[in-house]
Amino acid sequence: MKLKDSRLLRQQAYVDGHWIGAKSGETFAVLNPATGEEIAQVPLMVEADAEAAVIAAEIAFKQWRKTTAKERSAILRRWYELVLENADDLALLMTLEQGKPLAEAKGEVVYAASFIEWFAEEGKRAYGEMVPTHKADARILVSREPVGVVAAITPWNFPAAMITRKAAPALAAGCTFVCKPAEDTPLSALALAELAERAGVPAGVFNIITGNPKALGAVLTGSDKVRKLSFTGSTGIGKLLMAQCAATVKRVSLELGGNAPFIVFDDADLERALDGAMASKFRNTGQTCVCTNRFLVQDGIYDRFVEGLAQRTAQLKVGSGLDADVQQGPLINQAAVDKIQAHVDDAVAKGASIVCGGKPHVLGRTWFEPTVLRDMTADMCVARDETFGPLAPVFRFRDEADAIEMANATDSGLAAYFYSRDLGRCWRVSEALEYGMVGINEGVISTELAPFGGIKTSGLGREGARQGLDEYLECKYMLMGGI
Ligand code: ADP
Repeated sequence: MKLKDSRLLRQQAYVDGHWIGAKSGETFAVLNPATGEEIAQVPLMVEADAEAAVIAAEIAFKQWRKTTAKERSAILRRWYELVLENADDLALLMTLEQGKPLAEAKGEVVYAASFIEWFAEEGKRAYGEMVPTHKADARILVSREPVGVVAAITPWNFPAAMITRKAAPALAAGCTFVCKPAEDTPLSALALAELAERAGVPAGVFNIITGNPKALGAVLTGSDKVRKLSFTGSTGIGKLLMAQCAATVKRVSLELGGNAPFIVFDDADLERALDGAMASKFRNTGQTCVCTNRFLVQDGIYDRFVEGLAQRTAQLKVGSGLDADVQQGPLINQAAVDKIQAHVDDAVAKGASIVCGGKPHVLGRTWFEPTVLRDMTADMCVARDETFGPLAPVFRFRDEADAIEMANATDSGLAAYFYSRDLGRCWRVSEALEYGMVGINEGVISTELAPFGGIKTSGLGREGARQGLDEYLECKYMLMGGI
């Protein structure tokens, strides 16, 4: 399969409107997780390269912040249209570097574009306010200004959407942007930069640097020129980066790991719950931070739910993301496979039973069989730790209070789901769940229209929606006296 537009495969970084290599000239390989083959070489950048990108963004900020919201909106709108026009190519690049099935990759491209469209519009509504005064001869005004240079560090599981969800509000607010994409998936990021350039985003406003995470991260978090860090990734790295940002008191937005419960009450619509369970658990081969990590199912419906889930899971088509109808692509790397196996082995050693799957797939390499485990207990690793793979462990509970206690017994607080047809219970449980997002009789809840984010160690701040713009704006209070 070939790209329609071969210029979307970029193997250089994009800084200050130029396509460049690392100062050292070094590069690293981008691999296809399905085959292990090399797809491209991109610059292996380090501290000095990041410093140059930050300076470019700082200089560009002086002009970009002076453009009107309407002018920025027009450029973002063109970028949005170009992303959609090139969706097939962007999806192919994504499947090649990340592994997800082509249809899912296309879905992510459309999702990624939706953030650009939304913030192209929302940027025009960064309203300030006039506050009733405390002095007769003075007036109080509050305006909202762009925070400045924004750094973003993004993960491999959504190689395009995790960038646009940050870049679109940043640019719409009048900020400039330096992004370090995950080393597994830089090609989607670079293709987005190519399209941003074609859309007319000025030099220095949107920059992509590829290379050594630690070295680039040290500059992005340590530089006093960078005023904000937006990170999506693991909780451990998020905590580290937050600490690194402390020295310069940067604003931070963090979207970290989850441990999503999916609660099924006896009164649930079983078919609907099973549909939601499959979508929530197996999207992106289980590699999303809002994927269900624990199924909590009430006594009366437990056996029927496990049976239905196993039946559907066993029918999932596993294979290369490029093959038609494949629903489960490879995992990102060997470590991901090892983690699932460790979770399965630990559960089985502590008394769980394998209902289907349970071992590496015959396709070999980075595939793992979609797996359902039953008779799970709280002492098993997967109760606390996010698997990030196609493993569906089913726990049992007695009553509503029991379910809420189990669901909240985690440091994470990103997404939770539950199924019930009792209206009173729907309110009670929604309010009791200590999570940033709750799906009620729904297994897939992400949209650019709603605020995405978590509480507890799942993060800080929200992305998408009206709230997503606030993350890139500071408010300024002005008191105008002597009137
Ligand atoms: P995962 O375990 O899912 O790969 P990570 O948190 O390690 O999640 O990765 C998310 C992003 O954080 C990636 O872009 C990765 O390169 C980056 N990253 C990892 N370690 C560091 C670090 N020490 N400093 C800065 N960025 C890092």
